[in-house]
Amino acid sequence: MYGKIKDHLTQELSNIKEAGLFKAERIITSPQGAEIKLNTGAEVLNFCANNYLGLSNHPRLVKAAKDILDSHGFGMSSVRFICGTQDIHKTLEAKIAEFFGTEDTILYAAAFDANGGVFEPILTAEDAIISDSLNHASIIDGVRLCKAQRFRYENADMEDLEKQLIEASKTARFKIIVTDGVFSMDGNVAPMDKINALAKKYDAMIMVDECHSAGVVGKTGRGVTELFNIRGEVDIITGTLGKAFGGGIGGFTTGKKEIIEMLRQRSRPYLFSNSLIPAAVGAGIEMFDMMAETSELQDKLHWNTDYFMEKMKAVGFDIKPSKSAICAVMLYDAKLSQEMASKLLDEGIYVIGFYYPVVPKDLARIRVQLSAAHEKEHLDKAIAAFTKVGKELGVLKK
Ligand SMILES: *Cc1c(COP(=O)(O)O)cnc(C)c1O
Repeated sequence: MYGKIKDHLTQELSNIKEAGLFKAERIITSPQGAEIKLNTGAEVLNFCANNYLGLSNHPRLVKAAKDILDSHGFGMSSVRFICGTQDIHKTLEAKIAEFFGTEDTILYAAAFDANGGVFEPILTAEDAIISDSLNHASIIDGVRLCKAQRFRYENADMEDLEKQLIEASKTARFKIIVTDGVFSMDGNVAPMDKINALAKKYDAMIMVDECHSAGVVGKTGRGVTELFNIRGEVDIITGTLGKAFGGGIGGFTTGKKEIIEMLRQRSRPYLFSNSLIPAAVGAGIEMFDMMAETSELQDKLHWNTDYFMEKMKAVGFDIKPSKSAICAVMLYDAKLSQEMASKLLDEGIYVIGFYYPVVPKDLARIRVQLSAAHEKEHLDKAIAAFTKVGKELGVLKK
C-alpha cells in the first residue's frame, strides 16, 4: 500500500530542492565527445566527461562492438560460472593483466561492483582495512560489506596512515591499505611511493582504485604503478571500462592470482550478477590492443592538461596542482560555482560546479576534465570563456 510514504518522499524531495542539492540531468542528443549537442539545440564543448582518451565514440571501438554483436551475440543470460563465460571474456581479462603487469584479472559489470565485492571474500573480523578518507563511495560500501576492522586516514596524509598502521598492527592478522589512485574532486594522485614503503614496513597489502587514473596517469597511461615505478608491487588494482577505457561499461579487479581466484569463488557481485555483454567486451579488447600499439593518446592528453592548467594559472585562476587530467578551478563559494558554470554554459563550455557536501564546505570549485579528444582550439575557447566569465565575476587573482 503506497500511502503515507508518498507524502514523506514528496517532502524529502522538496527539501533536497530547497537546499539546492537536487541533481537535474541535462539531456545530450549526440554521441559523447569533445563537441556535444544538447536537447535545447545548444552545441557545447564538453569538459565534464570522464572521456579522458576520447574513446567514447571512437570508430575502432564502435566497429569492434558491432563485429562482436555478429560473432558472439547480444546477451549472455547467465552469470560467469554457469554459462556466462565466452572466449572473449578470458581474452579481455588477460589483456587487462598484461596492461597493468599483474597476474590475473576478474571482470565485473562495473567498478562499483568490483569494489563492492573485493574485501569480503578475502578478509574477516581478524583483519584490518586502512582506507583513505576521500575514497570513492563504492570502496566505502565494499568496506561496509566486510567484517574487517576499519581504520581511516586523512586524504593522502602519510603521517596519519602510519599512525593507523601502527594501531591496526596491534590486533590485525592481515592489513590492507586502500586508496584511490587519483582522487576525483582535487585530481591529486595518491603518493604511491610512500604508501608502498609504509606497506612494506608494516607488512600490509595495497589496493588501489585506478578508475580516474588508468589510461591517464603515467607516461603510457599504465596508472600510478607506472608513475611511481612500482609496477607489480600493488596487490590489488580495481578499475573501470567506463572512463578513459572507452567510456562504456564494465569493471575489473586485477592483481595477485590467489586473490583473483578467491574472488571468482566468493565475490558476490561476480557470482550473482550477469556476465558483461559481449559488445562491451569486444570493444574492451580492441581498446587494450590500441593501448599496446601506441601511447599517442596519452601524449596528447598530457599536453592538453599541461597547456590548459598553465594558461589558466597565467590568467589568474586558483588551480589545484595535479598530475591527473582533472583540473579543479577553486572558487570556494558554492553560489559562485553554480553561477560561473551556468555562465560558462552560455559561452558554450559545459562544466560542473561542485560544492558541499560533494566537496568540503567553503571549497567549492569547477572541475574541468581534459581529454585527448580536445583540440587546441577547444582549449583556447574554454580558456577565453573562463577568462571572460572570471573577470565578470571578479574571481581572477590580480
Ligand atoms: C567512477 C568510479 C567508480 C565506479 O566505476 P563504474 O565502472 O562506473 O561503476 C569507482 N571508483 C572510482 C574511484 C570511480 O571514479
